[in-house]
Amino acid sequence: MEIFQDISKLKNALESAQHIVILSHYNPDGDAIGSSVAWHHYLESLGKDSKIVLPNDFPQNLKWIKGSETALIGNQNIEQAEAFIAGADVLLCNDFQSFSRIDKLEEAARKSNAIKVLIDHHIEPEVEQFDLIFSNQKSSSTAELTFELITRLTPEKTLDKFAAEAIYVGMMTDTGSFAYSCDHRRTFDITAELIDLGIDTRGIHQNVYDTFSESRLRLLGYCLTERMIVLPELATAYMFLTKEDLYKYNYVSGDTEGIVNYALSMKNIKFAAFFTERENRIRISFRSKEDIDCNEFAKTYFNGGGHRNASGGNSFENMQETIQKFEKLLPEFKRKNKF
Ligand code: 5GP
Ligand code: MN
Repeated sequence: MEIFQDISKLKNALESAQHIVILSHYNPDGDAIGSSVAWHHYLESLGKDSKIVLPNDFPQNLKWIKGSETALIGNQNIEQAEAFIAGADVLLCNDFQSFSRIDKLEEAARKSNAIKVLIDHHIEPEVEQFDLIFSNQKSSSTAELTFELITRLTPEKTLDKFAAEAIYVGMMTDTGSFAYSCDHRRTFDITAELIDLGIDTRGIHQNVYDTFSESRLRLLGYCLTERMIVLPELATAYMFLTKEDLYKYNYVSGDTEGIVNYALSMKNIKFAAFFTERENRIRISFRSKEDIDCNEFAKTYFNGGGHRNASGGNSFENMQETIQKFEKLLPEFKRKNKF
C-alpha cells in the first residue's frame, strides 16, 4: 500500500478542522516531542488552532525545544486534557500504534468523534482504531514521517525553522544519533534539507545529550558496576534499578533514557534488557542486534512492543519475580532467534 495515498484526505481534514489535538505516547521521548512540536508549528503557520496533549511530562533535556512549553500534560490536568480531546475535530496521533499507549487519555481518545489520524513507525498498528493511517516501519522516526507529510501537504511552503529543529530532534534521538534505524538514504536527504533550513545540528545534539546532571552520570556508573548482569552463554546482559536506587541518585524523568544501550555495546552480547521500578510496575526496555525480534518478546511476555531491535514493556510483578521470569524465558528465546 502506498503510504501517502490518503494525503488529500488528511489535507481536507486539517483544512476543515476548527480544533486539532496533537497526541503522543506515555513517557514522551525525543521523537514524540519532536513530531508533536513540528505539527504544532506547522499548523500554526497555516493559522490553524492546535494543542499538544501528552499523557505525562517529558524529560528536562527536551524542554528547550521551542513550542514544547505549550504542551498540556495530561496527568497534571486530566479534565482539561479530556476536554481538549473531546472538543477536537482531528486527533493527530504521533509515535504510537495503539490507544493503549496513551495511559489515562485512552478512553477520551477512543470515545472522541474526531477524525483520528495515525502517524507512526511502530510494528503492527491497531488499524481499526484510526480513520487515516500513515504508518511506515521503515521510517527512522515519526519525525521523519512528519516531514514527509508536511512537505506533501503544502509543497509550496517552506518549512518553519522551529519545526525543522523539532524534526531533527526526533530523527536524531530515535536513531541514536544516526547509528541505527537509518539504513536508507532518504533519512539523510531529509537531514540535508533540514540543514539547508538553517538548523544548528551541533547545538541541538549538545542541548539533548550534554545537559545531564552529575547525579545522572553517577547513576549510570552505579548501574554499570553494581546492577548489570552478564550471561555470556545466553549472549544476553541485563540491568535493573530499584526505586531506592533512583531516589538515591535524585532521579528525574529522562535519566534512565539510553542506559540499556550500554549493555548491548559489549562484543558477543546480542540481547539486552533494562528493568526500572516505577510507581506501580516494572518498566522494561529491550534492545537486540541483528534479526533478533525483541518486539515479539516484549509483546508475548511483557505487555509491550515497539520495533524489532528496540521495544518496551511492563511487568506488574515485583522486580525479583520479573527478572526470574525473564531469565527463564531466555534459553527458548535464544533458540528461536538462533543467536
Ligand atoms: P524504550 O525502551 O526506549 O522505552 O522503548 C523502545 C521502543 O519501544 C520505542 O520505540 C517505544 O515507542 C516502544 N515501546 C516502549 N514501550 C512500549 C509498550 O509498552 N508498548 C509498545 N507497543 N511499544 C513500546
Ligand atoms: Mn519513535
